[in-house]
Amino acid sequence: MSRVYNFSAGPSMLPEAVLKRAASEMLDYNGSGQSVMEMSHRSKVFEEIINGCESLLREILNIPDNYKVLFLQGGASSQFAMIPMNLMKKHHKADFVITGQWAKKAYSEAQKYGECNVVASSADKTFSYIPKLDSSTFSKDADYFYICMNNTIYGTHYSELPDTGDIPLVADISSCILSEPVDVSKFGLLFAGAQKNMGPAGLTVVIVREDLIQGVDEKVPTMFDYAIHAKNDSMYNTPPCYAIYICKLVLEWIKNDIGGIDKMYALNQKKAKLLYDFLDQSKLFKGTVEPDSRSLMNVPFVTGDEDLDKKFIKESVEAGFVNLKGHRTVGGMRASIYNAMPIEGVEKLIEFMKKFEAENQ
Ligand code: PMP
Repeated sequence: MSRVYNFSAGPSMLPEAVLKRAASEMLDYNGSGQSVMEMSHRSKVFEEIINGCESLLREILNIPDNYKVLFLQGGASSQFAMIPMNLMKKHHKADFVITGQWAKKAYSEAQKYGECNVVASSADKTFSYIPKLDSSTFSKDADYFYICMNNTIYGTHYSELPDTGDIPLVADISSCILSEPVDVSKFGLLFAGAQKNMGPAGLTVVIVREDLIQGVDEKVPTMFDYAIHAKNDSMYNTPPCYAIYICKLVLEWIKNDIGGIDKMYALNQKKAKLLYDFLDQSKLFKGTVEPDSRSLMNVPFVTGDEDLDKKFIKESVEAGFVNLKGHRTVGGMRASIYNAMPIEGVEKLIEFMKKFEAENQ
């Protein structure tokens, strides 16, 4: 068996220990005589899985008791509509910072439900930085303030959170969840698709302050009402059972194998520094993001020559490094180095880049 180093932006690598454990439990989970894929979501054995998953997430992210954790389907993209449906209640208004395609999509979807203001954007420089925010430009009566914390395509990340006062801060943390500690109490709502740092695609996690999900308009469809999912402990209908099980294994890996979120963060900082330090001194490769906006998870870079970029991507695949091609809207390369990418993967990539640089002076 030979596994590649997979730099995909998502779905992406899972820890090998998690895959091995899932394989060993595939036919008979914990003496139940069934796979997790086959069991009733109402069974005691599955209840233990979903409850265990939630309590581990609460413990690792230190989620306060007045926040609900929801395990939903529909991908992070469904949240672009669910958030305004549930949160645009008082003034039907929200503020947005446009830092890339995902923030833009959230903004476009929310426009169907109310007035949306763009308080800042980094579109002028292909979203290569997080714009400086001036709180005097924020709407005083917004129902929420929306950011995309880590911009998967462009490789940017907020180094400082906007101070929105009493206005609930809502953040898409799809590509940085569990990569760093996060002070949940500073947010009204956090959400993430699972397929980068939590498990397989099909699971979306929403962490939301309890008081924000009350009194939703009765026209909101049942399946899009956070309060319904909260009241039913994410079991209003069949949840994405297998994805929740893998997520629980990933959380156990972070807690027991890595040693918790602070250790995970330190490891991610170390991996990213190796790559950024290499890019900063390279005569061929160049990082595309302004230094104070750099993401620890997604690292885009270019050679400045499209043909050379193509050659690099082709040769990287032959050398066992896959999915380094940049997003189709940006070009160049992007190395996504999520939690499950081992440090050796980054070291080997750098070695390969050095060799490529020497051969292509
Ligand atoms: N937000 C971010 C930051 C993303 O990276 C992605 C997908 N890569 C999405 C939202 C959309 O997620 P999904 O495909 O689960 O709808």
